[in-house]
Amino acid sequence: MTIPLKDQALKDDVIRFCRDRNTDLVGFAPVERWDEYGEVPPDFRPRAIFPQARTVIVIGMSMPLPVVETTPSALHQELYTTTNRQLDDLAVELTRYLNRMGHASFPFTRDTYTTMRALRENNLAAFGHVPAAKYAGLGTIGMNQCILTPEFGPRVRFVSVLTAAEIPPDPMQGKELCIHCKLCAECCPKNAIKPREDRVVGDYDKTACLEMHEELVKRRCYPCGICTKVCPIGKDRLLYKSKGIRKKYGKEQETLAANPDAPEYKSWTHIRKYGAPQKPREKSKDKE
Ligand code: SF4
Ligand code: SF4
Repeated sequence: MTIPLKDQALKDDVIRFCRDRNTDLVGFAPVERWDEYGEVPPDFRPRAIFPQARTVIVIGMSMPLPVVETTPSALHQELYTTTNRQLDDLAVELTRYLNRMGHASFPFTRDTYTTMRALRENNLAAFGHVPAAKYAGLGTIGMNQCILTPEFGPRVRFVSVLTAAEIPPDPMQGKELCIHCKLCAECCPKNAIKPREDRVVGDYDKTACLEMHEELVKRRCYPCGICTKVCPIGKDRLLYKSKGIRKKYGKEQETLAANPDAPEYKSWTHIRKYGAPQKPREKSKDKE
């Protein structure tokens, strides 16, 4: 199929807009993919939320691995908050840019919940960036229920812009990126990920994961993210020369329980010691 030049020009323009603002990943999904795959309930699909939508633009920013490795820490929380804020700003900025060009658009920002209590009442987002990123060809969904990207594994955050513009789509990833190593499940402190033999994506105990996050909000070092830290997928491991440390991840909790100052974990535990309370408060005022 020949792509009209004006559609390709708009795509190039959007990519340039995002790259100029330090985006790591940009992908384009036609809204029909939600119907074709049938994985997302109808009310959560782009056209149910924004009937004019023809394309979903998905934008990703990476979370540098050595900081993710310090989780739970104040530093990791700052990185998470900063990345989300940058992404949210970009989604709103891109929406205004497209609107000015005559393409009605609708931003869906990153963390669309206000409190942990809201998640306890209804632990679901009105629109999922994970399926959006998959349909935009940016990655595949791993056992840990996160998008795994070739570039950063699951260490990347996403926002989406729903637009009336018809933009040439990106192809979806040809093969599953998750290698079913089960490290995410083994390292989860709440046992919230259960591997399945019949499919790549594991079963996920949202309540157990939420309990972990509630504890971390009280300690002011939210979120957890251990299942994104340990995933071996991603070229970021080459940049940081961090291949083959499965054993180190796998033994971390046990080793530190026996010796909190174990030298092999010093660079992570040093950062964890500062900037956040070591013990939870009885009642959090942060996100309650
Ligand atoms: S975020 Fe933490 S508690 Fe939740 S599934 Fe991942 S490792 Fe488990
Ligand atoms: S840690 Fe292993 S099993 Fe879990 S998502 Fe990554 S590759 Fe898949």
